[in-house]
Amino acid sequence: MDSLPTLILKPGEADRVIAGHPWIYEASILRITKPAEDGGVVQVKDHRQRLLGVGFFNSKSRIRVRLLSAHRVEIDERFFRERIQAALEVRRRHMPGATSFRLVNAESDFLTGLIVDKYEDVLVLQTSSMGMDQRKGVIVRVLQELLAPRAIVERNEMASRKFEGLPEASGTLSGEAPEEVEVRLNGLRFPMSMSGGHKTGLYLDQQSNYSQVARLAKGARVLDCFSFLGGFAIHAAKAGAARVLGIDQSEEATQAARRNAGLNGVGGVCEFETANVFDWLKGHTSHKADEAPKPEWDLVILDPPSFTRNRASVPDALRGYKEIHLRAMKLLVPGGTLATFCCSHHVDAGLFQEVILAAAYDARKRLRRTAIHSQSPDHPVIPSIPETEYLKGYTFEVLS
Ligand code: SAH
Repeated sequence: MDSLPTLILKPGEADRVIAGHPWIYEASILRITKPAEDGGVVQVKDHRQRLLGVGFFNSKSRIRVRLLSAHRVEIDERFFRERIQAALEVRRRHMPGATSFRLVNAESDFLTGLIVDKYEDVLVLQTSSMGMDQRKGVIVRVLQELLAPRAIVERNEMASRKFEGLPEASGTLSGEAPEEVEVRLNGLRFPMSMSGGHKTGLYLDQQSNYSQVARLAKGARVLDCFSFLGGFAIHAAKAGAARVLGIDQSEEATQAARRNAGLNGVGGVCEFETANVFDWLKGHTSHKADEAPKPEWDLVILDPPSFTRNRASVPDALRGYKEIHLRAMKLLVPGGTLATFCCSHHVDAGLFQEVILAAAYDARKRLRRTAIHSQSPDHPVIPSIPETEYLKGYTFEVLS
């Protein structure tokens, strides 16, 4: 191990790393003792030569080193077995009974650069760092040993790979992948195509929120905005909603959601409409000066895509969030329930609630917060790595 290339950090750069952040940026590095190979293991020390950890080096990436351990361990098959086993135990402990979940969530599981999703008996792997990519073989072996999946598929089409100098790649790494897997989320059926295509993903990170929100749906008229494949809508219908309407601008998504509702035996309760949520809400809340909008809904769910990818666009995003909340509040019956989510990393829980409060002010409503939501436990939050926390949500009763 002493022969590992050693990166020495500049003074003042070690604290973040000691606190648990695994990324070493180019600008933090003082010097390197000998040339390192891209994807190879290096050790990192502070300027006083104290060990900070070992990780994968990549000269092509702005993140020069991705630390894997604070200790001087071998990054070998045993290392991957222990880390992946630990990740599996977290899921088994916190999501007992779940059969589809994110098995490894990169930094959240101290395996930066590796994501593994379990869709029933098929595993889907993504490697976003050079070091991880080079070790796909050993990772596949460990996954076979721990879970004996029917197939392991690689889905490395993400654009971020080019920042690591990696080409796009997809295909089957082991076993035989079926065309389609019938994924179970909380026991409900969501078929997922395995043969590529971009609209294939399911939002595993909402799995626990689906059931938390569905608990409030019994007997309710439910409006699911940004319904995608019908995750919230179908869970609500299964939980006994009187009527469910899902809105999504993607025709492909609303068609799939309709199919999914039928498959789960709630096709009669669920309707899906292809529309822009902003336009739809506006159309249903605009009214003549002398008439108030007619509230129709007992439960409104807002789960939009991230409105912002960077800090600069946060003000625009906030205007968007405020608008949909204001209109959703107007559509709720007095005392109705609003379940709302924000997956933008740049809008934190505090700011998100502020924007909801600003909407409530304009709508002249008061809010009683009845739940705080986060990403499902298969996307663990590591507080010392802020990037691991991105999904937040609240449930409010909206009082007039
Ligand atoms: N609630 C979903 C996830 C929503 S993802 C689930 O749990 O699975 C965001 C969805 O919003 C996508 O399906 C996308 O097609 C849709 N979308 C994005 N912008 C939209 C808009 N302005 N109006 C309607 N749908 C929109």
